[in-house]
Amino acid sequence: MSKCQFCGKKNPPAAETCVECGTKFLDRDREEPPERPDSLEEELLELLRSGQKITAIKRYREENDVGLKEAKDAVEQLAVELTEQQSLSGGEV
Ligand SMILES: [Zn+2]
Repeated sequence: MSKCQFCGKKNPPAAETCVECGTKFLDRDREEPPERPDSLEEELLELLRSGQKITAIKRYREENDVGLKEAKDAVEQLAVELTEQQSLSGGEV
């Protein structure tokens, strides 16, 4: 079922434009890929906090299907952000 975002008319699933107002349906109405935007980053940060950088890089590669260098860069970028966060919080008491 494709519901028109413009006029709210319910259209047949195969419809590419609204039968009521002619608004073109966007591709994302069909099926959104299940993305996990924050969970991996949280996991990586957790690994970095416990000093498991290599594991974090491996996890990044598994999830994103990228090369070693790209994964390493991304994880190191996270590590930098993590360090900045820690220094901003003024150190642990
Ligand atoms: Zn419509």
